[in-house]
Amino acid sequence: MARRALSASSWVVATIGIGLACLHGVSSGPTDSPFAIGAIALASICVGIGWIINRPPLSALATSLISLLCLVAALSVSLRSSSTSTVETLVLLSQLTLVVGLIIFVRNRLGQRASSVVPDGLIVGLGAWVLIWIVLVQPAIQESTSSSLTILRASTLGAAMVVLFLLATLLFSDTAPSPSVGFLGLAVFLGLTGIVLRAMSFRQDFSITSTTYTTPFLITCGFAAAGFLHPSVRHIYTSGTSRTSPPLMTRLVTTTASLIVPVVLLAITDPFDTQDRIVRTVSVSVLAIVVMIRVIQSVRANARTQDHLMKSALTDSLTGLPNRILMLEHIETAVQQAWRTSRQPTVLFIDVDRFKNINDSLGHSIGDNVLTLVASRLIAAVPSHASVARIAGDEFVILDATTESPTQSVLLAESVLDAFREPVNTPEGDMFVTASIGVAYSPKGVDLSADDLMRHADTAMYRAKAAGRNCIALFDDSMLEKVTKRLDVETALYRALERKELHLVHQPIIDIELGIVVGFEALMRWERGDGDIVPPTEFIPIAEETGTIVPLGSWALNDALIQLRHWIDTNVVSPSTTMSVNVSPRQLHDPQFVSIVSDALAASGIPAEQLWLEVTESVMITEATQALSALRRLNSLGVRIAIDDFGTGYSSLSLLQKFPIQCVKIDRAFVQDITTQEGARNLVRTIIAMANALGADIVAEGIENKDQLSVLASMRCNKAQGYFISRPISVADVPAVVQQLQDIDAWRARTSF
Ligand code: C2E
Ligand code: MG
Ligand code: MG
Repeated sequence: MARRALSASSWVVATIGIGLACLHGVSSGPTDSPFAIGAIALASICVGIGWIINRPPLSALATSLISLLCLVAALSVSLRSSSTSTVETLVLLSQLTLVVGLIIFVRNRLGQRASSVVPDGLIVGLGAWVLIWIVLVQPAIQESTSSSLTILRASTLGAAMVVLFLLATLLFSDTAPSPSVGFLGLAVFLGLTGIVLRAMSFRQDFSITSTTYTTPFLITCGFAAAGFLHPSVRHIYTSGTSRTSPPLMTRLVTTTASLIVPVVLLAITDPFDTQDRIVRTVSVSVLAIVVMIRVIQSVRANARTQDHLMKSALTDSLTGLPNRILMLEHIETAVQQAWRTSRQPTVLFIDVDRFKNINDSLGHSIGDNVLTLVASRLIAAVPSHASVARIAGDEFVILDATTESPTQSVLLAESVLDAFREPVNTPEGDMFVTASIGVAYSPKGVDLSADDLMRHADTAMYRAKAAGRNCIALFDDSMLEKVTKRLDVETALYRALERKELHLVHQPIIDIELGIVVGFEALMRWERGDGDIVPPTEFIPIAEETGTIVPLGSWALNDALIQLRHWIDTNVVSPSTTMSVNVSPRQLHDPQFVSIVSDALAASGIPAEQLWLEVTESVMITEATQALSALRRLNSLGVRIAIDDFGTGYSSLSLLQKFPIQCVKIDRAFVQDITTQEGARNLVRTIIAMANALGADIVAEGIENKDQLSVLASMRCNKAQGYFISRPISVADVPAVVQQLQDIDAWRARTSF
């Protein structure tokens, strides 16, 4: 509050100061007019208040006060006595104090930043000095009767030009001025104006009165008062923040004018005498030297900027390694030079495994540390002639132009993989970072571009990732075919739904003892436009990765339930028949999933208890909390959850207990060996005991023969599904198959247990 009041009053004081000074100027009264006295009194009070409340740095206050007091004293002495030399000494003293104050100020406030703008400030100061010398000082010397007085006045103007130089330095710097700095800068500038007007008043050819030149001095008082009253004066020496746009235009215009004006004046006027010639020559020489320094400085800065721009366009800012563009250039050169030699340049594509986890869990700055460490390890791991680049986030590329065989390429990759064996030290402790490496080389006689080679290494890297990470994969052409095929499937899958290329087949699930159909599992089929049938094991993982599984899965759910409704309504199946629908983890993470399920139930009119959602064990492991909450909500709707392919994942007993599971589907892999291997039998027995302990239903999958079914029946497994009972069948075939399966006598004859 107090701060606001002070800053508002500083603006008011500045305005009143300007007002009083203008009234003084317009009134053409004596130098000590009531307006002048009012302005000085106001300034004294405000500086006093500012000093008490704001406690500005003492040196700033002292130099400003001494300088102001000297000026005011000089004005009052000139009114009361005719001691001109005292007046001139006081005015000179005011400028010298200001020079000292400004030097301290510029050093404190601008620090190192000042050096870049000092030459420009000097050009302004020197240019103004040449102008002042020719227009004011030299004529004054010619007309003067008292040499001591002339020396004093010339010295004052010289000091004033030093003040101008310091002020220009302050103005040109890229440090943003605070309000106090602004007010005090204006105060100094108006003081300079007053000094110059006063010097002009001594010449007969200018009719400038004492009232005229005291006016800027009075404005100086107002601005100085405002500057000390504003709360920002407390931190007047603190190096401020950088301006958003540095005053480049002001700098350019002012320095150019400061060069042109003196040059023109020197060209159109002749020196009066030798002393004038010496002063002109020295001043212009110094000006020329400063301009030369400035030009050299500019050229160097320009070259540095260009160099920096070139470097940043071709290197990675974090590690300082070449970036993708530069690496591609290196590869291109290597491939061209290898032509007609025995060399087969090798490119390694390295991707840090699960780097996102490091970034997400430990933060980006630790992530950056890890990347820098990885970069230095890669450099150390490869021969000195090889180049290492960082081409994106956690992706590095290595080029060795001298390899001559695939064996050498793989050896190089192995030495790089070895570099990851040691733990990485971070502030959070040691951690193991691994990488997947794709290897590609440019075979003899094959025309490959740098882009191709890098892409091949990238493809191989994906193979290494798929093979379980932390390993090497060497590129071969079949990978490219796979990638192309996958891309084709990905694009076609987006359209599959709207082109009605998808349909469901249904595999009956039976009650082993009774031999009746108690449910179906809906399985998706994709018949592409060209007649190709894509198996779900091929397209479901792609749909999961690309997210297409969300709309596909919701379509399957609706279609399956509507179909079941139809079969119940037409008495094909009993009203309590269930429908199992496979659900992928991606669907469970969709916030809309629960409402999609309840809408599908509502649309079909199937009771929630008759819907089984089959999820795999992986759901319990990755992002378990989100999946758990979705499953709990589904469970509360009445929907049942089955754990599919049980035994093939890595779920722990504690996870099984935590998840709401009402059915365990024993994977085909265990059922297959149940008749031949004691171990498989024991395992299935254990799974059944565990499911019983959890209070869950059991379905055995993949029954392919009578023996498997009879072993399962003897173990009290109550439900089964498999080719022996029925293959997954089309909607049209369901009534006939169900009828055939319901025939209990035929069932007994088939199974006889
Ligand atoms: P799943 O859920 O474990 O489905 C059982 C798979 O085993 C089916 O393969 C089925 O045809 C096959 N099968 C059934 N009985 C036997 C048998 O006796 N012997 C042999 N060898 N195989 C048998 P399918 O239809 O190729 O489906 C493969 C997988 O694709 C499914 O495994 C499921 O994980 C996924 N899938 C299928 N449809 C969908 C779907 O609509 N959504 C999602 N998310 N996944 C689906
Ligand atoms: Mg299933
Ligand atoms: Mg299964």
